[in-house]
Amino acid sequence: MNRVALYLQEHLLGEIITNKEAREYFSTDASVFKILPNVIIYPMHTTDVRKIVKFSYQLALKGKILPITARGMGTDQSGAAIGEGLLLVFPAHLNKLLELDTKSGEVRVEPGLNYGKLQQVLLTHDLFIPVNPASMEYSTIGGAIGNNAGGDRSVKYGKTLDYVKSLKVVLSNGDLIETRRMSKKELNKKMGQSDFEGEIYRSVDRLIEENSQLINSMDLEVSKNSSGYNLKLVKRKDGSFDLTPLIVGSQGTLGIVTEATLLTIPRRPKTTLTIISLSNISEVSDTLDFIKRLPEAPSAVELVDDKLLNLVKNNHPNLLKNIFNDDFSRFVLIVEFDNPTERLRTSLTKKLTKHLQDNSLAFETSIDPVRIEEFWKFRRSATAVLGHQEGTAKPLPIIEDGIVSVDKLADFIESLYFLFSQNDLPIYIYGHAGDGHLHLQPALDLSKVGDRQKVFKLMIEYHALIKQFNGSISAEHGDGRIRAPFLYAQYGPESYQLLTKIKNIFDPQGILNTGVKFTDDLDSLKSILRNEYNSDYLYNYLPYL
Ligand SMILES: Cc1cc2nc3c(=O)[nH]c(=O)nc-3n(C[C@H](O)[C@H](O)[C@H](O)COP(=O)(O)OP(=O)(O)OC[C@H]3O[C@@H](n4cnc5c(N)ncnc54)[C@H](O)[C@@H]3O)c2cc1C
Repeated sequence: MNRVALYLQEHLLGEIITNKEAREYFSTDASVFKILPNVIIYPMHTTDVRKIVKFSYQLALKGKILPITARGMGTDQSGAAIGEGLLLVFPAHLNKLLELDTKSGEVRVEPGLNYGKLQQVLLTHDLFIPVNPASMEYSTIGGAIGNNAGGDRSVKYGKTLDYVKSLKVVLSNGDLIETRRMSKKELNKKMGQSDFEGEIYRSVDRLIEENSQLINSMDLEVSKNSSGYNLKLVKRKDGSFDLTPLIVGSQGTLGIVTEATLLTIPRRPKTTLTIISLSNISEVSDTLDFIKRLPEAPSAVELVDDKLLNLVKNNHPNLLKNIFNDDFSRFVLIVEFDNPTERLRTSLTKKLTKHLQDNSLAFETSIDPVRIEEFWKFRRSATAVLGHQEGTAKPLPIIEDGIVSVDKLADFIESLYFLFSQNDLPIYIYGHAGDGHLHLQPALDLSKVGDRQKVFKLMIEYHALIKQFNGSISAEHGDGRIRAPFLYAQYGPESYQLLTKIKNIFDPQGILNTGVKFTDDLDSLKSILRNEYNSDYLYNYLPYL
């Protein structure tokens, strides 16, 4: 055990390990990168976290940087749950549901709590958090907060940030603060404090006041954005102030969350689902346009293209048997309504089906929970099949999280087909069409030099395309390491500088998740690119095949 580990072991209650196997295990997350941590720590409580961070902070003051990375279940696809230095693994101990107020629907949790388990408990009280990330069963609340996770219901219900009321956060010097929305008077009191917290409030407030126009101009034309920091949501017109939007989505680069109070809503058990067959991209565009003009948003609008359906058909033909009679069309759209009253669900579905009939489009609508589950299974299986192809080329999360405005989605899809054909690669399109958000995962073999070069070529070309469409490089997975070199181009020099200022205000010594969100150099990623990629860690969970 190295000296750092020995020192920490003396001062912490949580366990510390440094053996080679454990370091190797924690050197990867669900991204294409690999970084060996120095020391793995399972914090027992907030005091442990504070001591660890304070230790690293004091080392940094003496000129030695020992970075700290918070980790939930490591399903991060952007390379933000790995790092050199100290890796804090939360699911071991800081994993409790602390308090549930069934009247207000507020629930107080520790960050290492499994998201799916929390959801199960909430459902027994007829409550839920509607965001629904696909990885919920095998990821943590801390990870969802870190990435501001979204999901297939985000089109109606927004993302994780919309359900975070307050956070307990260990700052980069080891101080513990609580973030929540506060009045102007409370803000003034905070700004009067002489400690690090007071300094943060003063600096962030000043930055916002001096750059309000620039901050407004950073608003991207998209419905979901996990890129950069949520500066715009900190200060409202009424002077109220909340640091929570900065911490949520910050991927552990501004502070370490040790407790969260979350909001829930009454569960929506009854849904109506329509599955629509569309023969070309303009039918997709027209249908999305109609859906956008409905008086109430559907709870899900999902798209799968025929290339992915063909892949499913070739590998698991029975999955499609009950869904399509003979063959399927070019695109399939799934539209769900979950409104609490049957009258509203029926009325919205009627409007949609009338539009489909008027345009001679094939569709099937169901209110039968069993049939609806079959539809969802088909949508979710499509992505699982993609991840379980035979062969050495594996679908890689390298350009998997871009988003454009829904109005531009059809043109964006056409450009993607062109981009992939230029690179001589098959493309499978699926995603949250109602948000203009697609998850693309090109299959490449990381053990081959040519494919490794293609990783970077594709990233450069794809992100240029996102920029051209005024989209965001990350809708819900975060910038992490993989998109950090593209953050500058995403926001431009002035706004990028603002983001670095936020990082410096919270983490002046540069110890929190170093290299995440801020890396100028695409070449630096080449040295941490894995030589293989696998999803073995998911074998316990993917139930959809
Ligand atoms: C198959 C698959 C499907 C996915 N589907 C979705 C999806 O539908 N929607 C979506 O948004 N994402 C999705 N993801 C990405 C990922 O699963 C989610 O972002 C998830 O919420 C991460 O949780 P985790 O516990 O694995 O966190 P980790 O991967 O361990 O960490 C994620 C980030 O949060 C930070 N973090 C963790 N704990 C803390 C803490 N206590 N304090 C501060 N920062 C912390 C980490 O440093 C890291 O930056 C998917 C990933 C996979 C592999």
